[in-house]
Amino acid sequence: MFIEPHIQNEQDEKRGWIEVICGSMFSGKTEELIRRLKRGAIAHLETSTFKPVMDTRYHHSDIVSHDENSLSSIPVDHSGKIIPLSSGAKIVAIDEAQFFDMELPETCEKLAIQGKRVIVAGLDMDYTGNPFGPIPAMLARADYITKLHAICVKCGHIANYSYRKNSSRQKLLLGEKELYEPRCRVCFYKGDEV
Ligand code: ZN
Repeated sequence: MFIEPHIQNEQDEKRGWIEVICGSMFSGKTEELIRRLKRGAIAHLETSTFKPVMDTRYHHSDIVSHDENSLSSIPVDHSGKIIPLSSGAKIVAIDEAQFFDMELPETCEKLAIQGKRVIVAGLDMDYTGNPFGPIPAMLARADYITKLHAICVKCGHIANYSYRKNSSRQKLLLGEKELYEPRCRVCFYKGDEV
């Protein structure tokens, strides 16, 4: 369980950091992001929450996790727009970060230098099992990393892979629940045989 390293106060305004929450689909990334933001709200820390404009799975401007726990968020089409939109925030949260451009890590670095706590949640691997978008570079820059795990629907072991049941090879096909399932490494590479 992630515990905040310290709570920012007025005397400590310039001490920001970066947290990354990663894992496969169904591993609870958004739920963990929401948990941290609720704690920030209790501490009266203003939060700005963002997601890529293309993530329109359920609702245009709410982050909606698979258990329908939701928080308001601002859709942006480029990571650079996060900086001017979060000027008053102590916490900057970014969900579905794998769909952002490759400037996201630099943007997060700038936010942390401004003294903000930056929380980034995203898929670490795409459905082919390869590192996804800016997430590898985010992991390199992060102060704190939480890798969450789902459960393999085929064998019940720990799952790190998002297996696409659909035969479509369109990488950016959005994460509709019925198109994917969490799988362990063994069942992922067995493909349709299992
Ligand atoms: Zn398995």
